[in-house]
Amino acid sequence: MIFISAIGQDSHRFVNEETSSSSERRLMLGGIEILGTPALEGNSDADVVLHALTNALSGLSAVPVLGRKADIMCESGITDSSTYVRVALETLDDIRLTHLSFSIEAKRPHLAEHIVAMRENIAQLTGLPVKNVAITATSGEGLTAFGRGEGIACTCIASAYRPSER
Ligand SMILES: [Zn+2]
Repeated sequence: MIFISAIGQDSHRFVNEETSSSSERRLMLGGIEILGTPALEGNSDADVVLHALTNALSGLSAVPVLGRKADIMCESGITDSSTYVRVALETLDDIRLTHLSFSIEAKRPHLAEHIVAMRENIAQLTGLPVKNVAITATSGEGLTAFGRGEGIACTCIASAYRPSER
């Protein structure tokens, strides 16, 4: 058995609240709808947490999903980022995912009250126990665009194992 790990990262800026008429667009984080904060810009639902997860899964399998594959799905109207995660999970083949750790940097929204719901949703999506899905959040103290509230960034580390090479 070989233990492997991979990193995934993503960031999106908030929609411009003055110029955009995107009142029907909602902020999605970890597959959870969060009220009271503007949506993030993007062709898809711009779920930065699920995009970081998709990239981390691609890091395990070395098969990219965000980019061309997701763009094609987006063009056909599939904007739910959970679908991108499912496609990335299919690329794992005989790799067994064991643990996910997320770090979110955002000045807004206040994430503490949403972390349990995000962990539960990601656990359900990936088939992991909730205890193996960890999420921390930091406000970034205004040092970056994310810490200043211009957008949200997320990093994900995925741990897994695969059978030994023959
Ligand atoms: Zn993204």
